[in-house]
Amino acid sequence: MKNQKDSKQNNVNRPSPLRGDRGGLLSRLLRPNIVSLKPYSSARDEFSGADAMFFDANENPFNAPYNRYPDPYQSELKKKIGEIKGVAPENIFLGNGSDEAIDLLFRAFCIPGKDNVVSIDPTYGMYQVAADINDVEVRKVLLKQDFELDVPGLLNTADENTKMIFICSPNNPTANVFREEDMLKVISGFDGIVVVDEAYIDFAPEKTLMHKLADHPNLVILQTFSKAWGVAAIRLGMAFASKEIIDVLSKIKYPYNVNLLTQEKALEFLENAQQKDDWVSVILREKERLKKALQQNPLIKKIYPSDANFLLVVVDEPQKIYDLLVQKKLIIRDRSKVAMCEGCLRITIGTPEENDKLIETLKELS
Ligand code: PMP
Repeated sequence: MKNQKDSKQNNVNRPSPLRGDRGGLLSRLLRPNIVSLKPYSSARDEFSGADAMFFDANENPFNAPYNRYPDPYQSELKKKIGEIKGVAPENIFLGNGSDEAIDLLFRAFCIPGKDNVVSIDPTYGMYQVAADINDVEVRKVLLKQDFELDVPGLLNTADENTKMIFICSPNNPTANVFREEDMLKVISGFDGIVVVDEAYIDFAPEKTLMHKLADHPNLVILQTFSKAWGVAAIRLGMAFASKEIIDVLSKIKYPYNVNLLTQEKALEFLENAQQKDDWVSVILREKERLKKALQQNPLIKKIYPSDANFLLVVVDEPQKIYDLLVQKKLIIRDRSKVAMCEGCLRITIGTPEENDKLIETLKELS
């Protein structure tokens, strides 16, 4: 914990979250304690700059550059990400994985024990976990039989205490992107925050909603470095939204939430976006190859269309196939207990050699 004595209460560097709050959206939705919160002001908030001697943060003066606290706002990294994504740095929040942004959104908007969120079902399990940690009810709305959004279902399930609607596109585990017009109906028809988690969007880049950000002050888009960029280990997630929402997330995050090693590594990988694109091409090619091979396998009853880097397949005995593959040290995900996913196994696309091994082993099991 930071010593409160270190905290400068009249923070001049951090903007007020509610300045420019169009239509009072945020003043209405945010928890009152978050609106009035005086954030911790770090030494690097008060002064930053390279050409100075720092006697202000009780750091060790030796062992540069690791002795110094990192940039709390990751300015260089946001500038670079902004260039690549075509958004201003002020519209970007960076966190310890997109999971951090999910948790912060709950903490910013949902009063524990009172407010609720609406989520599609089935979907990524972390929305439920973050809600449980924050004592917030999740109202689940099943996807339609074809895995498309039930737009009226989502909108009608929201009540006056619903602060957020969670959509994941491409969705985990169903692997499909939702129709843009359906997502826009939810965003326009709901007067709270709509979170669209695009963790897998690099595998279907033309389907992103990023171009709609400016039109919709209630839209938050999540993306991550954990999938296509190939750096899940460095823990770096992104949230894109209005400046007002980003300011709120920045105000409530831990001051140095993205460490120096992560910021440096991310900058290094961003210099080589071509590598990411090459990986995505190989993964997409391998997805088609794996799909064709699985279609030939009598164990596989159905393969759902996929806009992501994984396939959702239906088998008769999911647990048995999962266990047999584990014995061969091939680990897939049994999703058969998940809503609407009876008999389903989720298979992440591996390297060509790994996929060969999986195809061969499943053939032997059939
Ligand atoms: N969103 C979705 C839909 C995911 O499937 C995952 C990881 N499985 C995440 C977010 C987590 O991303 P991160 O590693 O950035 O926390």
